[in-house]
Amino acid sequence: MYRTADLHVHTNFSDGTFSPEEVIQHASKIKLSCIAICDHDVLDAIGPCLAAGEKYGVEVIPGVEVTAEKQGCEIHMLGFYIDRKDEAFRAKLAQLCAQREKRIYDMIDKLKKHKINLDPGEVFKLSGKGSIGRLHLARMLYKKGYVATVDDAFRKYIGNNKSCYVGKINLTPEEAIDEIIKARGIPVLAHPGVMGKDEFIPSYIKHGLMGIEVYHTDHPPAAARRYEAMAKENNLLMTGGSDCHGLGKGRVLMGVVTVGYELVERLKDARR
Ligand code: AMP
Ligand code: FE
Ligand code: FE
Ligand code: ZN
Repeated sequence: MYRTADLHVHTNFSDGTFSPEEVIQHASKIKLSCIAICDHDVLDAIGPCLAAGEKYGVEVIPGVEVTAEKQGCEIHMLGFYIDRKDEAFRAKLAQLCAQREKRIYDMIDKLKKHKINLDPGEVFKLSGKGSIGRLHLARMLYKKGYVATVDDAFRKYIGNNKSCYVGKINLTPEEAIDEIIKARGIPVLAHPGVMGKDEFIPSYIKHGLMGIEVYHTDHPPAAARRYEAMAKENNLLMTGGSDCHGLGKGRVLMGVVTVGYELVERLKDARR
């Protein structure tokens, strides 16, 4: 049987809506052999996912999606086979989570200029445990009727460079690569097509980037082909995944983008 893997899945420890058990149950239902758990700046879903994975027969790759910033532009770096118990890495992620919390308050402040009054406590409650992010804010804007869709919240207010966007993540992509390598993970640039900053990529490669997320829900076929060529040219690993956020983005994306298990084997070969 041809085995497939979805190498980019979120849980409710970041901005997904499924608990670890629900994520694994869904993966098993749609017959995925393997998934990578890549929550934003938090590792605490990995343990419960590994346990549920054993129970349901789904292989779980411990991963993370680290938030970085370059020239005011948010860049996401995936780390596969990360050591989830590495204390220095956990401390670095805790700093990023604190910055995430601070910027939620700052964005709520900026929204006031548009006569939008959100209660920070309610947004934090919606986000639950783990890391808070813009998707939680967007969902609250939707829930309170300020926007017609979650996507609208990003388009009108909190998308990159929109009037209520606040960056302030104090980590460069190069530093994110270093941190992932120090925690024995494989650094892979997440969805470069979403950022649209291909000109930055050579400096990441020089800095030790090991792979590119070639296949992604928001990569049209032409983008996937471009990144596939770039990966081959530079001898980089290729990954792909749905970036499923449970119901956080409306519909469940898990399995919409998958890769063949042979790409998982290449990741395993590159493991430290
Ligand atoms: P943050 O991690 O707080 O910077 O927020 C980024 C997250 O917001 C991404 O990981 C996505 O989950 C979500 N996001 C970004 N743009 C959109 C969009 N247009 N529609 C829905 N979700 C989005
Ligand atoms: Fe997200
Ligand atoms: Fe991302
Ligand atoms: Zn993601």
